[in-house]
Amino acid sequence: MSIPEVRKEAEVLAGKLGHKRLVVVFGEHPSSGADYICEVMREIYKVKVKTRRGFGAIRRVNVNAAPMSIADYKKIKAAGIGTFQVFQETYHLETYNQVHPYSTIKGNYLWRLYSLHRAMEAGIDDVAIGALFGLYDWRFEVMGLLAHARDLEKHFGIGPHTVSFPRLEPAANTPFIKKTDHAVKDEDFKKLVAVLRLSIPYAGMIVTCRETPQMMREVIAMCTQRDASSKVGIGAYSERGDAQEENIQQFILGDSRSLDAVIRDLASMGYITSFCTAGYRCGRTGNNIMTMLKSGKEGCLCKLNAVLTFQEWLEDFGSAETRKIGEELIAREIAEIEKRVPGDFSPVILQSFKEYHSRIKNGERDLCF
Ligand code: SF4
Repeated sequence: MSIPEVRKEAEVLAGKLGHKRLVVVFGEHPSSGADYICEVMREIYKVKVKTRRGFGAIRRVNVNAAPMSIADYKKIKAAGIGTFQVFQETYHLETYNQVHPYSTIKGNYLWRLYSLHRAMEAGIDDVAIGALFGLYDWRFEVMGLLAHARDLEKHFGIGPHTVSFPRLEPAANTPFIKKTDHAVKDEDFKKLVAVLRLSIPYAGMIVTCRETPQMMREVIAMCTQRDASSKVGIGAYSERGDAQEENIQQFILGDSRSLDAVIRDLASMGYITSFCTAGYRCGRTGNNIMTMLKSGKEGCLCKLNAVLTFQEWLEDFGSAETRKIGEELIAREIAEIEKRVPGDFSPVILQSFKEYHSRIKNGERDLCF
């Protein structure tokens, strides 16, 4: 995509849908190297769109791209990257070599395996791991993810910020899924999410739109993040309608509901949707946030920021139906926060929180702890 095309996409995502955090996926091609990634990120951060009561902007750009050299990682760190993701796809060497022959661009297993170590060495202290479940035995992949997390902790004192566990889906021109013996059954999928949740308790767990709404409901309590209203076609947010999207998407999504519908569904289950990006922008990353996460202190801030960012989203983008159910949920959350004073929150924090909350209702944006 050209930079003006990237801008158009970001304007729709920030101004019409209300996203605050993106994962921007780059192809593995010489023309989408580090310099292009930096340009894309800078353009996205510049977007600011007027909304119903305030303005929309992308506050955090995460990047999913090919493994890079330390010099290139330094460039994207300087351009303001959020989390850097490289998924190993499969930790099983033989399968990796089969699906990515050595002579191909993605064919170097070790270069990919140590890509996040290099990112850390370059100063990117926020990295994400993942495996594509279905390429090989899911139990092996779970152990691969755990070993990866432990090795990052051992060398840098910081584990992965998030773990992703997409399941292989049918994709255009890719016969692999039809032939594999390793497709992960629903029951096993729930097990692997539980094992990862318990084994890497400090990490964010990301469940993707590849899963159906029903599966999402079953695993969401073990997860911390999900994507919503995602489109996997290039330029699909601004350029094309849903019919065209079907023809150009990379693979089939299990959940194609709008962000509003997803948020309403979660709210009806009693889950608040947080758009918080505060920690990263207040310097709570890497070792800092790891200590805060392990002690539970960051979790208290999560609660306050979740209410504030959810309120922002409802004001600017929520449908009448979603606003109603969302406001009821927020009232319950505030009552719970009040009950936790002075244990988890000081009276001073409570007062600032309430002041921020009413300022957001009056159109101010981006107030957080
Ligand atoms: S406060 Fe919670 S949700 Fe916000 S950045 Fe920190 S960990 Fe993430």
